[in-house]
Amino acid sequence: MINETRNFKLWDFEEKKAIEVSFKKAGDHRWKALCCFHTEKHASLYYYDSNESYYCFGCGRHGISYEKYLRYIEALKPFNLVESLGEPVASYAYRDEEGKLLYQKYRFEKRNDKGELVKTYRIWRPDSKGGIIRNIQGVRRVIYNLNKINDSGDKVIFLLEGEKDCDNLMTRFEGVLATTSDIGAGRGFKKWRPEYYDFFQDRSIIIIPDNDKLSRIFYRDIGNNLAGIAKSAKWLILPGLKEHGDITDWLIQGGTLKELFKLIEKAPEFPLPIPLEDRTEVNLEEILGSNLPPEEMIIGDGIMGTKNYSLIVSRHKKGKTLFSLNLALNLISKTSFCETYPVKKNCKVLYIFSESNIFNLNEVISRQIEGLKELGIIIPKDCLKNFLSYNTRKELLTISLTPSDDLSRLQKCLDTFEPDVIIVDPISRIATFNMNKAENITFFSNLMIRMRDCLWVIVHHTRKEESKPRQKNPPPIDEEALFDSIRGSSAWCNNADTIICLTQSGADLPPNYLKVFFESKRGFEPMPLEVKWDTKTLNYELIDITDLHKKVKITYSDMMEYITKNFPGKKVKNKDLINTIGQKFRVTPMRVCQLLGEAKENGDLIKESGKFGKWYISEQGILF
Ligand SMILES: [Zn+2]
Repeated sequence: MINETRNFKLWDFEEKKAIEVSFKKAGDHRWKALCCFHTEKHASLYYYDSNESYYCFGCGRHGISYEKYLRYIEALKPFNLVESLGEPVASYAYRDEEGKLLYQKYRFEKRNDKGELVKTYRIWRPDSKGGIIRNIQGVRRVIYNLNKINDSGDKVIFLLEGEKDCDNLMTRFEGVLATTSDIGAGRGFKKWRPEYYDFFQDRSIIIIPDNDKLSRIFYRDIGNNLAGIAKSAKWLILPGLKEHGDITDWLIQGGTLKELFKLIEKAPEFPLPIPLEDRTEVNLEEILGSNLPPEEMIIGDGIMGTKNYSLIVSRHKKGKTLFSLNLALNLISKTSFCETYPVKKNCKVLYIFSESNIFNLNEVISRQIEGLKELGIIIPKDCLKNFLSYNTRKELLTISLTPSDDLSRLQKCLDTFEPDVIIVDPISRIATFNMNKAENITFFSNLMIRMRDCLWVIVHHTRKEESKPRQKNPPPIDEEALFDSIRGSSAWCNNADTIICLTQSGADLPPNYLKVFFESKRGFEPMPLEVKWDTKTLNYELIDITDLHKKVKITYSDMMEYITKNFPGKKVKNKDLINTIGQKFRVTPMRVCQLLGEAKENGDLIKESGKFGKWYISEQGILF
């Protein structure tokens, strides 16, 4: 009936209320109205009655009918999910050729503490009593709208990333047919199933990827595989989309059906060549004949590059985390790494932190920033937001970067923050499977490569000294033995582009004097650096130890002269005094304690009792 109107109650997820809107019929299963969420002159709010969902192509507000919402809440009640996942805002039915419901993909949304929208998806199947079984074990997996595709003769099929886009395209343009798979662009850990290709046999397909590299790689692959199966398969890149934008954004920007078909006319047909940088197989002729830019470096001329993966390793308790935090500060502020190797651009750093909690991070980072200031290295305030701590200790002791929700949560974080560098500290807390097995390493590094084009820095510890009693300050080992010990410790190093290894500098030096070794796959051999881990500022300072290894003797009078000069009339904490003198004279804390004991016995120094005993010079000592 022309000019038919009907009222639908829409559930407003943001305001938590139902809004009744009068819609005009706009075609088969679709209705149109002036938007109730924004002011407009031309109707852009659509209601799609076969899915009981609405979408506004003016402001992007979307949701489901109030009735559907109530049904959801009822069905989901036994599982108590609203608290953890948020409210159900959409569901997408996956049906077989005959239209029988196989399973549903549910979309939940909730606002987190910061007010950001968090989306979660679940795929569940119906039981026979109108309820839900929360898994899809043994259920046949199909593509979206399969029954409609089956009934559509030889109509063109749009293959898109995501059900929302399919619904929106089909709502906006009557008679258009769109499909997707229930896995999106299958970011690294999920797969497009080979049997899906059969659904496209002898059909005409238009593939429209989202505007990001992963989506393009994923759907270009599918397109090339469809080339021999489909009647025709075309590749359409929509113009004017922002990064990660999709066809819904294009529709909101005012894209019309006429424009869409104009674009399709010019769209290239599969099979299409894959750009060199996206390929796994490239022959030498192609490499040499191309204008590939040189590898882009982030640190130095060969220490860490974009799209690399590096390893920071040491034995336990050598300050890997402090070193890595220092590195992160250098990366966000473009200040030199270890005061030596230039950082080439201001980076965004995602720090996957499972070693400690944010309270501890606050303490450590503020001390490091203050300490760096003393060294003349300024970390500007406005770059602090480029350091994102992804704290895995908030809810769980460990997260598992295996195919799970944790991974999709991390993926979401990567999509919104878009880091240049990801630091994983430490890998042992994050991977629940045996990380020393080469196949697990390969799996994980592939995952890293697929998840994003960025530099990954993995923090890892070397093998513990076996069967030897644990020494407080194990003797340093030479460089070769050190890298050998990492190899024995983990297959991680076999895949790393660069390994940075921290080890104690020398048996004659205090334990906070460390040596930093580099091993690079690029034939670039950076000189080892000598650094001192400042116990007060928690920074690594570059030091010159040319004459540090010579054992320096300290006499009783050296010490007393130093104390008299530097702390006249002051009370100094035991710990501070030992550290200061130890560092000044490069002797062990033990030797300082011994001399302090002597001074106490002699009556030159007095030690105040109490928990943090303080030293001061006695009257007799002043005369010294
Ligand atoms: Zn609107």
